[in-house]
Amino acid sequence: MKYRWYAIGVMFVIIVGIFFLSPSRQQSPQTVSVVASIYPYGFLAQAIGADDIVVSVIVPPGAEAHDFEPSPKDIAKLEEADVVIANGAGIEPWLDEVQKTRSRLQKPTLIMAPDAVDPHVWLDPNTMKRFAAILSDELSRVDPQRASVYAQRTVVLQKQLTALDARMKQTLSNCEYTSAIVAHDAFGYFGRAYDIKLIPIAGISHEDEPSAKKIAELIDLIRSNQIHAVYFESYADPTLSQTLVEETGVISLPLDPAETISDDDSATTNYLTIMEENRKQLQKGLVCQ
Ligand SMILES: [Zn+2]
Repeated sequence: MKYRWYAIGVMFVIIVGIFFLSPSRQQSPQTVSVVASIYPYGFLAQAIGADDIVVSVIVPPGAEAHDFEPSPKDIAKLEEADVVIANGAGIEPWLDEVQKTRSRLQKPTLIMAPDAVDPHVWLDPNTMKRFAAILSDELSRVDPQRASVYAQRTVVLQKQLTALDARMKQTLSNCEYTSAIVAHDAFGYFGRAYDIKLIPIAGISHEDEPSAKKIAELIDLIRSNQIHAVYFESYADPTLSQTLVEETGVISLPLDPAETISDDDSATTNYLTIMEENRKQLQKGLVCQ
């Protein structure tokens, strides 16, 4: 009898010991799920959450971001996620419905630019720094045990964004040209941040095609020697930019609005490398020192 009580006592100590020493007890009970609407927010979440969270992006690599239609499975994922991070300003036509369901479940949705007319807010690195802080706070609210690692990674990311901004300012402050033509109206915030004018062929979305009159005006502008380069995008129809290049003989270069990432290079490419490549392409096209 005495032996039996002793054995039970030992078992109890072992079980309690396993419970207290187990690493899973020292961490949050489950992994936080984050769903981002478009690539730039997937990048932010990955940079801040790293392996401590599970991130998915609704617009998949290689797909066009404007007016993307999520599947019923995507909608379910959005409704159930611990954190949803979206842009607003019309780039996610499905957002209102998802937000309604999430409010019913008392799950907030992070919407970074709810009132903007132009959705392309992520192209200003300083705005991304602000968004990083907002996302870090939300991750810490949902998963308070990891608050300090989220905060540390946010500081690292913000330093990288500050460095990107400084390089961009330095490059773009001393150029022969201050204007260029771009495929669609994605670079408004970017242009204002660096005091350059990136005049679009198409509108806010790729579908807003220009009139013949607009094309004629762009050709006149190039011929008046104010433009040295026409930028194209991987996800836009190249016909109109090719027409401008053929008509005027200006140079043609790529510029990436970082709305989505290509399937082939998703392992080596991220928001920071895309923006760095944009800086080099702008240096060529605006003839900067
Ligand atoms: Zn766009």
